[in-house]
Amino acid sequence: MLPPQCTQVASISIRTLRKRVAEDPDFLFSYIDEVYSVIEKYEHRLRAYITLRPKSEVVEEAERLLKSKEIGPLGGALVAIKDNISTKGIRTTCGSKMLESYVPPYDATVVSKIKESGGIIIGKTNMDEFAMGSTTENSAFYPTLNPWDYGRVPGGSSGGSAVAVAACEATVALGSDTGGSIRLPAAYTGTVGIKPTYGLVSRYGLIAYGSSLDQIGPIARYVEDAAVVLDVISGHDPRDSTSLRVRTGYFRDYVVDYPLKNYRVAVIEEMVSEGVDRGVMKVFSKLLEKLEGRGLTVEFKRMPLLQYSLPTYYIIAMAEASSNLARYDGLKYGVRLEVEGKLWTDVYRKARMLGFGDEVKRRILIGTYVLSEGLYEGYYLKAAKVRRLLYEEFTKLFKVYDLAISLTSPILPPRVGEVISDPIKLYSLDINTVPINLAGLPALSVPGGFVEGLPVGIQVFGPPLSEGYILNLARVIEVIRDE
Ligand code: GLN
Repeated sequence: MLPPQCTQVASISIRTLRKRVAEDPDFLFSYIDEVYSVIEKYEHRLRAYITLRPKSEVVEEAERLLKSKEIGPLGGALVAIKDNISTKGIRTTCGSKMLESYVPPYDATVVSKIKESGGIIIGKTNMDEFAMGSTTENSAFYPTLNPWDYGRVPGGSSGGSAVAVAACEATVALGSDTGGSIRLPAAYTGTVGIKPTYGLVSRYGLIAYGSSLDQIGPIARYVEDAAVVLDVISGHDPRDSTSLRVRTGYFRDYVVDYPLKNYRVAVIEEMVSEGVDRGVMKVFSKLLEKLEGRGLTVEFKRMPLLQYSLPTYYIIAMAEASSNLARYDGLKYGVRLEVEGKLWTDVYRKARMLGFGDEVKRRILIGTYVLSEGLYEGYYLKAAKVRRLLYEEFTKLFKVYDLAISLTSPILPPRVGEVISDPIKLYSLDINTVPINLAGLPALSVPGGFVEGLPVGIQVFGPPLSEGYILNLARVIEVIRDE
């Protein structure tokens, strides 16, 4: 299940890496060599990174790590970080001209945790500008390509992170998911991506898009690696007021090859009917049969309210974005331009005109519109109500079912240029992923098979804090898909 860029050494799991390093610490240097030679060969085509750290710096960090007493649960893993997550001393652009030269003075909580756990930051990955998009074509710098087929998009907005991991240019990565930005690229690149329960992972240091929807999560080649990273990055953080006070650090224990329970699994019809590619559906049906063969109960359920999730999501996400992005004014935040006008409004206007791309501008306009006086009740407030109803529907569903399963995307990865010019088509790619964020639920995408040489992602989701069971079912899928 790995694309042609990967080599045997470059594709090892965290567990194998730790074991090999424990036997012979110098193995870490051979591993770094191997990953950098993959990068040398393919990165000029794939363009997964915006900022790649020089190998010498990474080697120095590896030396430091090997001298420390404990190598930590990440064991020297090379971690790629989406470029909207703050890294002290490393440029963080958010895929935007607006932040092209921004170097954060502090680390996001997740980044500190990765460093403390024996992870080495290898670079910052390409993304749709301010995480707005589903293909990574909205990056202000360049698009990232799909390692399975250079003519196709890798999904977005965390496309750079997913490609870095899929093509073995990193061990694991972090992405962010507001409406599908971890799961969609995971599905299109054949990797595993987790969008955690809202509040499980600290957002401190994540550059905000839609704050009530945003979550950081891992992207990995294997379910086990994703669980290891989730164990490292989750947990309460006093610096994030929406952070949950719950026990974490046990997710890895759920990654076993057999179902821990005779799960009752729901398939929501609306998520697997309209507009689904035939080949993709075949993979899904075959998988359901295999799961039933393992003693799981699979039942189809209807949830008509889901037809409102896309408009609801886009109203809420754009409203929050228009507010979050108001700070980029060329004075307090963002590019400083040589402006001729005397007025501060000239500085604002010019900075925002030149600093933001078209999609970002479109969203600020729509977001401001739906929040404006006289329209707020009809759009934003209504969307907030539908969101609440959706949450209640899911709560009801998970009183009866342990978990639910769907396709992550109804289609195969689109060709480069195919959807980017049509916003409605672009927004529709998120049809199965946005309801999860609206309800604050945890979800994961795991490869379920291939159609025409392209990966098909399966979405597993469940009630709040069901990450353990989700990871267990995902591991079972990883085991049975090739049987
Ligand atoms: N594609 C969705 C959007 O553009 C989701 C993006 C995301 O999850 N960051 O809003």
